[in-house]
Amino acid sequence: MSETPCRRIQVDLNGQTALVTGASRGIGKAIALALGQAGAKVACIARNEEKLRETADAISAGGGTAAIYMCDVTDSAAVQKVVDSVVEDWGQLDIVVNNAGITRDTLIPRMSDEEWDDVISTNLRSVFLFTRAATQVMMRKRSGRIINISSVSGIMGNPGQANYSASKAGIIGLTKTVARELAGRKVTVNAICPGFIATEMTDAMGQVVQDEVKKRVPAKRLGEAHEIADAVLYLASDSAAYLTGHILTVDGGLTA
Ligand code: NAP
Repeated sequence: MSETPCRRIQVDLNGQTALVTGASRGIGKAIALALGQAGAKVACIARNEEKLRETADAISAGGGTAAIYMCDVTDSAAVQKVVDSVVEDWGQLDIVVNNAGITRDTLIPRMSDEEWDDVISTNLRSVFLFTRAATQVMMRKRSGRIINISSVSGIMGNPGQANYSASKAGIIGLTKTVARELAGRKVTVNAICPGFIATEMTDAMGQVVQDEVKKRVPAKRLGEAHEIADAVLYLASDSAAYLTGHILTVDGGLTA
């Protein structure tokens, strides 16, 4: 995964505060770096302190401002505390990127209650928790951007991912509903559905499966994390003020 891409989208987020869940690696890290590079102060959320610190240090090294907040995104009280802390520390919260996610893949007859609950809780409940906490701040300010990272699995389904696909489809429903609820307050809510992106999550599939995936993707390659970050930059920008309730696939043509 390339972490220092040449940025192709120029967005000015100076004076804004962003929060990114799952910022310790992969897509979330690329999003945090891109938002920091665009001038936003970035609150980096995950459980691994060392990895979070690496993200924050990279943002600072690029001249940006970042802070880390360790949090299990499934923990309601912890999520409220993090959002309260960010607002207390920086006085505002303008952009929330709900990115943290896990897979626990297995076919439905073998799927345990824990595998179902863990994925729904990490991938979907977390989006509800951060959205609820952040909207209280954004509605008062009458502005804000909520960007949820769903997946093409939430649109197409994927064998072995009943839990994951359900969680990602749930994000789509949540996104569209909250977009309708908040549009009048100038808070936009959108989702991005990445296809297969090169991160530790897709590394876990192994080379053989990755090669099969590449054959299925019209673009004939995996996506890069910074390509998702670019889509986030656009949705966070002033240019996207009239864009809400949208589900943006970034998938090399997989769902075309
Ligand atoms: P990744 O490399 O496995 O990173 C997952 C991130 O989520 C990590 O930062 C992890 O941080 C965080 N996380 C997981 N459980 C958490 C919890 N309970 N509390 C706090 N943080 C938690 O995954 P990725 O590939 O970058 O994926 C990022 C998002 O994109 C996910 O929502 C994923 O479903 C989605 N997505 C990925 C792909 C892909 O091909 N890679 C495709 C479609 C959608 P800690 O472990 O440090 O807590």
